[in-house]
Amino acid sequence: MKQKKSDSAYRVEIRGASKSYGSLKALYNFDLTIEPGTFTVLLGPSGSGKSTLIRSIAGIERLDSGAISFGDRVVADNGFHMAPEKRDLAMVFQDYALWPHMTAFENVGYALKRRNLDTTEANRRINEALERVGLSSKGPNYPFQLSGGEQQRVALARAIVGRPSLLLFDEPLSNLDADLRERLRVEIATLTREIGATACYITHDQSEAFALADQIGVLRAGELQQIAAPEEIYRQPANRFVAAFTGISGSFLGTVIESKRHEVIVQLGTQRLECRTPTKLKTGDSVEVLIRPSATSLSHHHSNTLPAIVLDVAYRGRGYEHVVECEFGVISSVFAHESTPRGSKVDIYIDPHNCLAFPSEKKVSETASIAQLSHSK
Ligand code: ADP
Repeated sequence: MKQKKSDSAYRVEIRGASKSYGSLKALYNFDLTIEPGTFTVLLGPSGSGKSTLIRSIAGIERLDSGAISFGDRVVADNGFHMAPEKRDLAMVFQDYALWPHMTAFENVGYALKRRNLDTTEANRRINEALERVGLSSKGPNYPFQLSGGEQQRVALARAIVGRPSLLLFDEPLSNLDADLRERLRVEIATLTREIGATACYITHDQSEAFALADQIGVLRAGELQQIAAPEEIYRQPANRFVAAFTGISGSFLGTVIESKRHEVIVQLGTQRLECRTPTKLKTGDSVEVLIRPSATSLSHHHSNTLPAIVLDVAYRGRGYEHVVECEFGVISSVFAHESTPRGSKVDIYIDPHNCLAFPSEKKVSETASIAQLSHSK
């Protein structure tokens, strides 16, 4: 979905941001640019520094060093730290953070306190924000009279009512049930783009990141591993960590037997597999091959197939997902429109474009015995 660019949406620039807790580096020399009016998702496992980063952008956390600016306004620069309420941004939290003693209407209105609007205008905006999140009739309710999803909608209305230039989301869907999570995700994507604010959203959930983002930044241990459009993160992950964290259905150790730029042929047991690599590899290198779920199918291609046995099959609405075992290990999420029964002998086609080889420290011989053991079961 293309979004409307607001004139006031910020360009967020973070340069050399560092933050430690004792000897633990939560953020390390971090650079990031978010273009005005775009939606950036920061994705990483627990402890990778996502909260520290978003809280530093909000001004709730103070950086040890580095700078943050919103357009031409510096909000943090080494010693300097602008207070959160002066930054013209709004944040939606995982735990909703509503005032329990205020109604939904009052909670949303609280965000307008500093604007000095007359009562009629303020009420008009509050009602409009509640309407936008589908809660027009719930204004008089207190948080305890609202479901989790409704409370998060109130928080969303509170975030947009002041028309901020920057919207920050701190894992806002984590406490909700799956179907509600999906619905609210779509609402967040639509609303944010409608108001045209710059958005920064943190999550550990890759499907959420891919569904929402114009660009995804992948974090690991306080450092940015890669920042790019979702398609690029998926097709050309910068390293093994990014690939593994953004969805794989199998990983195997092998040896490069042919290498041509970013295309390699890898020996896996007695099988050969054509793969892509973002790095430079040469013949004889030990590699780990990661297979994306979208790379596999149970179809009748003639090249790049692996013989396998179906271990399990599950119905998934639009078709069937198979778990198969080949000579060197298990591949999950193999999709087909038809179901193939457990125990069947099949050929698995592997699309080389979504089959990625990365340098490995481990040698095939170290794990071969384990793989053979599991194969002979
Ligand atoms: P994430 O949001 O990705 O889970 P955080 O930014 O919360 O990561 O944390 C990054 C690292 O900093 C973690 O190892 C965490 O334990 C540590 N950390 C975060 N906040 C504090 C704190 N107030 N005191 C000590 N350590 C902290």
